[in-house]
Amino acid sequence: MLEIPEAYVLAAQLSQTVSGKRIREVIADGTPHKMAFYYEDPQAYPDLLRGEQIDKAVAYGGLVEIWAGKKIILIGDGIDLRYHEKAAQRPPKHQLLLEFSDGSALSAKVQMYGGIWCFPEGRFDNFYYKVAQEKPSPLTAAFDRDYFAGLLTSPEVPKLSLKAFLATEQRIPGLGNGVLQDILWQVKIHPRRKVQTLTPAERDELFAAVKKTLRLMAERGGRDTEKDLFGRAGGYRTAMSKNHTGEPCPVCGTEIVKQAYMGGSIYFCPTCQKV
Ligand SMILES: [Zn+2]
Repeated sequence: MLEIPEAYVLAAQLSQTVSGKRIREVIADGTPHKMAFYYEDPQAYPDLLRGEQIDKAVAYGGLVEIWAGKKIILIGDGIDLRYHEKAAQRPPKHQLLLEFSDGSALSAKVQMYGGIWCFPEGRFDNFYYKVAQEKPSPLTAAFDRDYFAGLLTSPEVPKLSLKAFLATEQRIPGLGNGVLQDILWQVKIHPRRKVQTLTPAERDELFAAVKKTLRLMAERGGRDTEKDLFGRAGGYRTAMSKNHTGEPCPVCGTEIVKQAYMGGSIYFCPTCQKV
């Protein structure tokens, strides 16, 4: 799943790679997928996008917005987005294929579920899109100590676990169950621990770890569990993820544990991260 660092990397790669290219042909819903979400009828996408020139790409949380004239191609967090050179074979399955006039192409494929929304600017009214645009990203200066303290003092927060606080209710759009594992490991806090048990020092450390870890992940091209625009795994080596379950904790050597928790897996070091 795309989270903050991967969406940031994709937007930068798209801006460098496809800006200025003109859309020659569009195939939408080429491989029908039950869990692919579209804006209105995808069969209208060719008429909407054909002839438009790609301008820029912008990341909001785990979403990537690609501008083509006054049209937007919004890529959701469950999508594999790939660039294809002129001579490269196109993937056999895709839910959106944009062929450019120079012979290169962009394909989007749904992993388990995800949205590929193409619409005229200002026309898509979607809760996740709206909050992701409105709330400050931890990669920006607006996400500062005071802003984070404000999130922690919301009335419902003290009783929540750290996982629920960080990764639910769009409190921090794009911070999901992937990146939170390394953030919590950095500060030696168990994902099941309750927010109200945090000491003032731990709150400060958590804020710093959210900023630092996400920045590092973004600068290194995303996490090693995810792929970029060119199909390459990210350069940030996750400590706590599916890639390293059962391996020794990089700090203490204890075996990393995977557990089901809140509709997803958590990964933690049982020695470094006590409940
Ligand atoms: Zn450890």
